[in-house]
Amino acid sequence: MAGDTPAILGGDPIFPNGPPPWPLPDDDVAAVLQATIADGTWGRYHGPHTDALTGELKSWSGCEHIELCSSGTAASELALRAFKVSPGDEVIIGAYDYAASFKNVLMLGARPVLIDVEPATFAVTPERIEAAITERTEAVVVSHLHGGLADMPAIMDLARQRGLLVLEDACQATGATINDRVVGSFGTLGIISFGGSKLITAGRGGAIIGHDQQLFQRMHVYGFRGNTAYPLSAIQAAIVLPQLKSLAARNTHRSERVAEFRALLEPCCGLTVVAEPTSSCSAAFYKLGLMIDEAEAGLTRDQFSAAARAEGIACDRTLHGLHTVHSKRRFRAPGELLGATRINDYGLQLHHPILLGTQTDISLVAQAFVRLVENAAAIAEHAPASC
Ligand SMILES: *Cc1c(COP(=O)(O)O)cnc(C)c1O
Repeated sequence: MAGDTPAILGGDPIFPNGPPPWPLPDDDVAAVLQATIADGTWGRYHGPHTDALTGELKSWSGCEHIELCSSGTAASELALRAFKVSPGDEVIIGAYDYAASFKNVLMLGARPVLIDVEPATFAVTPERIEAAITERTEAVVVSHLHGGLADMPAIMDLARQRGLLVLEDACQATGATINDRVVGSFGTLGIISFGGSKLITAGRGGAIIGHDQQLFQRMHVYGFRGNTAYPLSAIQAAIVLPQLKSLAARNTHRSERVAEFRALLEPCCGLTVVAEPTSSCSAAFYKLGLMIDEAEAGLTRDQFSAAARAEGIACDRTLHGLHTVHSKRRFRAPGELLGATRINDYGLQLHHPILLGTQTDISLVAQAFVRLVENAAAIAEHAPASC
């Protein structure tokens, strides 16, 4: 440990070189790139790698149908189009969620209906979905965020009873499982992302997975025959393939680091890590969710994250609650949004690359956090309460 003075007060940073880069160097990706250069597929729209990835994703997910596409955001749009979401329809979304689903619902002329989420899991619950259903409800978006998991078996039971279509967003949880099934494969349609910061990256890219032939037919006609703005390229597919193979081992590695981190932080100090997955589940960690109790920590969320960044740790505020950034005219919110507001105000996220490091790395992160809280008074005096 680099002394007792936090870096933000002039001490030595715990990680003087800053956070680890992403993506990490990967020999298997380098080999695949060499091969695409040798065989000319690097410049193709479509090729053997696209077909191979489609096949691999089928066996990985247990889904009969796969559509590769240019991003998770495009995947979400295509899925909502396949659901025929249109003006007059309502789509239920967690008030704390990634911005893309909300914007896609608006783009299709439909109305987002925002419901509260649980701060412990960052997820919507079947009870809150049920309470928000009206005769206009067409679909619900269920996202797995910050290492938390939504209760997909219960949500799909509800969806079957009430005739709801479910878009399951697994962009942050690729490879997480519930009852040994990967998330994304429960929903009517599921989406994953190969964006630049994601657990599998091709810089950009995504996929839709599912079981319903007719929905895939519709997406294919719209996004791949009629309009070629949506596909993934051959070189992107080639890069994803080796990462799909290493995903399970990497998810296990990250989960071990999170378990250690959880144990080290437990005695401290106003910070709560996203709920542990139950025994029938395994999580995947993209931006690990934390909640700060500012009174107990003695620091505001912004003071804490600025001080963490000064230590060379990639920790910052979570996303903005959708209800805090969009005009109330754009959505309906039938219930209180206390959980989403709490996450908006007190949520923190730790970026995943450090979770592929050693036990020493993660214990240094925990020690750094403890050191910040131990020096809270001095840091609070030095730093503005919010930025
Ligand atoms: C990143 C992300 C997306 C969109 O993925 P892109 O490929 O970046 O468009 C969608 N949903 C969630 C929850 C995400 O984190």
